Amino acid sequence: MDASHISSELTEVLYTNEQVQARLAEIAGEIDAEYADKDVLLVGVLNGAVMVMADLSRHLTSHVNMDWMAISSYGSGTQSSGVVRILKDLNTDIEGRHVLVVEDIIDTGLTLAYLMQNLKSRRPASLEIMTMFRKPEALRSQVDVKYVGFDLPNEFVVGYGLDYAGRYRNLTDVGTLAPHVYS
Ligand code: 5GP
Repeated sequence: MDASHISSELTEVLYTNEQVQARLAEIAGEIDAEYADKDVLLVGVLNGAVMVMADLSRHLTSHVNMDWMAISSYGSGTQSSGVVRILKDLNTDIEGRHVLVVEDIIDTGLTLAYLMQNLKSRRPASLEIMTMFRKPEALRSQVDVKYVGFDLPNEFVVGYGLDYAGRYRNLTDVGTLAPHVYS
C-alpha cells in the first residue's frame, strides 16, 4: 500500500519509499565498511523495525545474523513513558558479539536507553544503534546513535513499520495522519 491508496487519510508524505530505500543503501554502505572484518548481529526491535531490518539487511553486501526483541513501552496514546517490559528476548547469546540494534524511530529515546543498558550488561564486543527515523527530542537523550536515516519534525508519523492503532505499518511511504483519523 502506498500513499496514493490512502491519500485522504494523510496530511503530508514526508518520505517516499524511494527516498527511504536510497538512504538505506547509503547507510548499508557505511555498515559494510565498518564491519568489513567482523561478524555483525542485527537486533531488530519488534514490531516497528521489521521493514527497516528487511530492507537494510538486503542492501548489505556481506553476511549478517539477525535476531529480534519485543518490548512494550507503557504510555498513553502517542506518548512514551520509558517504562519498558521485555515481551520477547533474543534467541542469541550476544557476549563477545558485534551487535547493531535496528530501530524504526527514536522519539524521547527512553525505550532505547533501557534496551541499551540491558544489552550492554550482556557484554557484547560492540554495541551500536541504527534508526530509520529520529525526532528532535532524541537529540537530548543519553543514547548515542551511530546511523540515522532521517531526522523528522516533532510530529506523529505512520508508515514503513510505524503504526497508528495497529494500522499503517504496511504503508510503504512515511507521512502524517489527517486529523479526522484520530477522531
Ligand atoms: P521513545 O521511547 O523513543 O520516546 O519512543 C519510541 C517508540 O515510540 C517507537 O519505537 C514507536 O513505537 C513509538 N513512536 C514514537 N514516535 C512515533 C511516531 O511518530 N509514530 C509512531 N507510529 N510511533 C512512534
